Amino acid sequence: MRSLFILLLFTSLSTVYSQEKLPNIIIMIGDGMGLTQISSGMYANKNSTALEGFEYVGLSKTHALDKLVTDSAASGTAMACGVKTYNGVIGIDGKNKSHPSILEICQKKGYKTGLVATSSIVHATPASFYAKVISRRLYEKIAFQLSQHNVDLFVGGGKDYFTKRDDNRNLINEMSEYEFVNGLNDFKSSQSEKIGYLTYNGEPPSKIEGRDPDLNDLVSISLEKLSSKNSPFFMLVEGSQIDWGGHANDLDYIVSEFKEFDKTIQSVLDFAKNNGNTLVIVTADHETGGLALTDGKLNQSKVKGKFNTGGHSATMVPVFSYGPNSKLFSGIYENTAIFDKMFEAIQ
Ligand code: MG
Ligand code: ZN
Repeated sequence: MRSLFILLLFTSLSTVYSQEKLPNIIIMIGDGMGLTQISSGMYANKNSTALEGFEYVGLSKTHALDKLVTDSAASGTAMACGVKTYNGVIGIDGKNKSHPSILEICQKKGYKTGLVATSSIVHATPASFYAKVISRRLYEKIAFQLSQHNVDLFVGGGKDYFTKRDDNRNLINEMSEYEFVNGLNDFKSSQSEKIGYLTYNGEPPSKIEGRDPDLNDLVSISLEKLSSKNSPFFMLVEGSQIDWGGHANDLDYIVSEFKEFDKTIQSVLDFAKNNGNTLVIVTADHETGGLALTDGKLNQSKVKGKFNTGGHSATMVPVFSYGPNSKLFSGIYENTAIFDKMFEAIQ
């Protein structure tokens, strides 16, 4: 009888505990990273990718509200806010209604939040998680919205959109609660509650051209900071330039960007395995280039491909998941369901 009582006590305590301890969420978006981009990067990397370590795989339908072929704004909005919209629009649906993003919903639940991208931080994919604008090209407006937001940590290019603006405002000076760091060591040693790290004045160069710091270092430090608090955290990581390699129809560009992203995925997966209460989702907003792998040599990690377009394609993209509620992400669904599933994971 007494042991039964203790068992019941422990069961009810663990129920209370699991309700209080919401999972961390890390969503990693490889922009333009379709199945062929993943295959290319995998074969070019000794037939290996960190994605093999995930628990569930699903497929996401990427079409926009108005077009079969989406852009990063519409698909970013679909995943971040759960609504289909027109190409070019961020955070606003087809009836001109703004929607909170999963990052913003997490903030309301007491989450710490972070954004790390290899493009500028005002580019369509990261912007989908904090901005509401009718055009993705309104970079200065997007930067202003970030300055008014409450994101705890952000890393990416685009400093000029904060400091060299048509309205002559200097948002970095205005964001007095933030520490803006100027290098990886400053970033690592910063003890500030709110940190901005604008890595380049404009768009960062490609990995081949020497983009620095490495995404893996930026994300590892961001993870240390976000996980050192008592609250759960939400983080977006974007491998932004896999898409740009696709637009350039340049397979070496795609592979080099994928390899950096893949290494980062491995670090995030290792963190999640160690942490035990972190949901990791890796997906893409769309495929870019209509890439087909046509030849190569497995034992030399060499791949050859052909492109069908300089733009995006409408093929479904894979969704890899690991951690609490990762099972939700198996199956075939609209990209808006990625928002729904993340939302469900934090109830
Ligand atoms: Mg992007
Ligand atoms: Zn693109």
